[in-house]
Amino acid sequence: MTLKNKLFASSTHFRKNLQHWLLPGNCPLCAARAPRGRDLCPDCERSLPYLSAVCRRCAAPFHHPEASGGHCGRCQKQPPAFARAEAAFEYAPPVSQLIQDLKYHRQLYNARILGQYLAAHLETRNHQLPDVMVPVPLHPARLRERGYNQALELARPLARRLQLPLKPGAVRRIRATPPQTQLPRKLREKNVRGVFRVDTDVERLRVAIVDDVMTSGHTVNALAACLRKAGAAEVVVWVVARA
Ligand SMILES: [Zn+2]
Ligand SMILES: [Zn+2]
Repeated sequence: MTLKNKLFASSTHFRKNLQHWLLPGNCPLCAARAPRGRDLCPDCERSLPYLSAVCRRCAAPFHHPEASGGHCGRCQKQPPAFARAEAAFEYAPPVSQLIQDLKYHRQLYNARILGQYLAAHLETRNHQLPDVMVPVPLHPARLRERGYNQALELARPLARRLQLPLKPGAVRRIRATPPQTQLPRKLREKNVRGVFRVDTDVERLRVAIVDDVMTSGHTVNALAACLRKAGAAEVVVWVVARA
């Protein structure tokens, strides 16, 4: 990360946090006044795309009610390396907007908002908490370009609220790859093969991988496989949104 990027990212973050403390905020989606203590205005809050019926293993949304309660076809055919994925929302407006602004327009404050929603979702799920949280790492070149890792920014408020240790350096991305979204589906699995390396002792630990969006799931699956190979007892995936 260049110093300039770093300073810019942290000053934006600081300014937004300060604004939030000093003034009742404006909704980051529509600029309407948000009620005191809330981040979003009531209209935007009502339009959040909560998931209802999902695959119990990978959290893929089921659009046909008869499929609900079970596992999707993909998980039945080839179970993923992670035990379970949790997603707070479907990847749809306005959550997709908050995520894109976080990722591409340096709206780091959105990480705090989305992290709180993910924490609230996890609290309703009542599963045993993991031992440690690991954000999906960016390749150093991408990190330099963007100035921050959105997965780490999301994981921070989550770690604070759930009181879990966060290990951003536990895994490294050792190969730069084109973004999964720019590739046709059939190439995505190959694209992330062998890109991660575990750099910390995770033996017998239960690990939660944190990311912003899960689409095909190949990235988190490759990371989960890598952690399992390094001895992790269980790997779960926590994402803000599931496509
Ligand atoms: Zn709004
Ligand atoms: Zn599934």
